[in-house]
Amino acid sequence: MTIVPAIGERLVSADKTPEELSLECSLRPRLLAEYIGQEELKAQIAVAIAAAKLRGEALDHLLLHGPAGLGKTTLAQISAAEMSSRCHVTSAPSLERPRDIAGLLARLAPGDVLFIDEIHRLSPLAEELLYPAMEDFMLDLTIGKGQAARIRRVPLARFTLVGATTRPGTLSGPLRDRFGMACRLRFYLPEELSQIIERSASVLKITINGSGALAIAQCSRGTPRVAIRLLRRVRDYAQVAGSEKVTAAIAQHALSKLQIDELGLDPLDRELLSLIVKQHAGGPVGIEALAAEVGVDLATIEDVVEPYLLQAGLLRRTPRGRMATSYAYHHIGEPEPVPVSTLKLWESS
Ligand code: ADP
Repeated sequence: MTIVPAIGERLVSADKTPEELSLECSLRPRLLAEYIGQEELKAQIAVAIAAAKLRGEALDHLLLHGPAGLGKTTLAQISAAEMSSRCHVTSAPSLERPRDIAGLLARLAPGDVLFIDEIHRLSPLAEELLYPAMEDFMLDLTIGKGQAARIRRVPLARFTLVGATTRPGTLSGPLRDRFGMACRLRFYLPEELSQIIERSASVLKITINGSGALAIAQCSRGTPRVAIRLLRRVRDYAQVAGSEKVTAAIAQHALSKLQIDELGLDPLDRELLSLIVKQHAGGPVGIEALAAEVGVDLATIEDVVEPYLLQAGLLRRTPRGRMATSYAYHHIGEPEPVPVSTLKLWESS
């Protein structure tokens, strides 16, 4: 039986902890020029913003997809700031009743940005209300019940919906079609994360040198939220060790104490890879079976653990299940089995 830390306790989880909610407000870049990386996406949004400003219109509705912690909320807030508008931040699970979303929509001023996180989790009723709101800037309110029920159309301010999702494939077709732009955020390069770490360190008044920032960046799973969290934990180690500056040596020592390896994998990631390699001969193995065996819910494995293992080239997704790659064997220090076809060739020679 493996004991796996709860999601909130995982240092490399891209999900935010309650403490990080308020901290992130102070760390978020305010303007597009301060937003590091995602160059193509930034260029696309910059053109859309400039065009909307020229026309004196609201920005087109924008769908942002990609794993958690990559900067979707930040980008929504930057879009509003660049348009000199307000950004209202909410998430689909808190819009369960139609009146929640109706109330929000009715309060929007012209040009406002409404950011809905986890938009794939919207209830069908809330989604129905969004269609005319996005398309015609109209709110269809149902007055009365049963046979006496009728629809009243209420005009809305021309607003911009920014939807964020980690699972674009589960979004309904009609909702997806109503976004003027759909953009994918990719994992960040270590050099980009280094810049984010140095920027965050200066806001948090942490002294760090370039190699210290790079050492943390390399273990941050391509994710700014993880990079910032690791920076704060490494700072704790530096302070306890009596060092005023975070250097590469201090960062590497702290990360190894935190059980984070050089690829940014934590015990849960390594447990998952070992299981595929040792118990399932490298796979393929179904994701449900894996989740049950490590004792973590399926959504966590699919949304949090797996995307980075795939991106890092440690895991492969096949129609028959997940497979460990040669790199995964190498990383956990297990010899890779010789393929049967090679054995036959060898025997017959
Ligand atoms: P998401 O909405 O995708 O989960 P957030 O926008 O909340 O991610 O970003 C998580 C944290 O990472 C925030 O504190 C934000 O300041 C920081 N961050 C994300 N992307 C960038 C970036 N490109 N440049 C600088 N900081 C970033």
